[in-house]
Amino acid sequence: MWENLDVALEKVSVENLKEKPSSENLCFGSDFTDHMFAMTWSRENGWHDAKICPYHNLVLDPAAMVFHYGQAIFEGMKGYKGKDGQTYMFRPTDNLERMNQSAVRLCMPRLPVDKVLKSLKALLYLEKDWIPEAPGSSLYIRPTMIAVEPSLGVRPSEKYYFFVIMSPVGAYYKEGCNPTKIYVSDEQARAVPGGVGNIKTAGNYAASLYTAEIARKKGCSQVLWLDAKEFKYVEEVGTSNIFFRIGDELITPPLGGSILGGITRDSILKLARSWGLNVSERKITIEEVLRASEDGTLLESFGTGTAAVISPVGEIVYKDKSYIINAGKAGELSQRLYAELQGIQYGELEDPFKWVE
Ligand code: PMP
Repeated sequence: MWENLDVALEKVSVENLKEKPSSENLCFGSDFTDHMFAMTWSRENGWHDAKICPYHNLVLDPAAMVFHYGQAIFEGMKGYKGKDGQTYMFRPTDNLERMNQSAVRLCMPRLPVDKVLKSLKALLYLEKDWIPEAPGSSLYIRPTMIAVEPSLGVRPSEKYYFFVIMSPVGAYYKEGCNPTKIYVSDEQARAVPGGVGNIKTAGNYAASLYTAEIARKKGCSQVLWLDAKEFKYVEEVGTSNIFFRIGDELITPPLGGSILGGITRDSILKLARSWGLNVSERKITIEEVLRASEDGTLLESFGTGTAAVISPVGEIVYKDKSYIINAGKAGELSQRLYAELQGIQYGELEDPFKWVE
């Protein structure tokens, strides 16, 4: 039905444009650009009313199903300004395809990827003056879909709203890359086999907050999540995928259904393999990680995700015992991978995998 989807453009008048934050004052996700993209889906009309319009508050019925049964999915990706002054995104098609996997799992309508991508490119170009230019900064892009039919019946909604907002973000590591201290949760799990851990739905993040607070009280900034059945196998760290370098092997847990297939994870796997490194997607127990830390073979560990790209882990806290990794410093491979990926994203290095579009 979306073959006929036309995108209307309603621009903010020049005198009402917002003031842009200075690059020193950029926090993650607190400033938003002047425009957004929005469209509506109904069973009768499919996707319709697509528009790029002024950023605005939403008016929703209090019975809108998203408030009650949580049909809400989202994505996170980044836009950059290239050396040629053009605007680019990193692997946006992969993000939109992943959003469609989330949609299918939650009985929500799939997006017309090509059309949404075209609209996203138009929105990014329209907002190009919002793309910060300081090193490491970018425009974070947040596509979101929510169920808006007013009804208290537990069933898939018959009406959805899709929107994309954008937020300028500074370099994740303002004072250089400080490795994180992470808390291993052996009481709460992030996701269960057969559940929704492999998609980006809002409830996953709500359910993680309690454990993140426990971690914070223990002086840690992230949670290392274990599997929900045995609390034995490592799954993810915070809202990132996790990698360990043990001896000459670079290891990340396999995507078994409860782990989100990160776009950054996939990029790191492809880069590391193209460099001829010994890379394994295999199950790894927390015991193996801690043993390797004690016998000195755990050389480095890092999380991967859109926000920070690569986030080295400097310390693991498990059952109140602390294990230091690489003397608490960022490892050599983390730094090499970070530099390579950032170089590709900013158009400074060759893009052999055609990730930038
Ligand atoms: N796991 C979770 C739970 C996440 O929320 C994210 C961020 N989207 C990731 C992993 C990393 O995914 P990506 O590399 O696509 O940002």
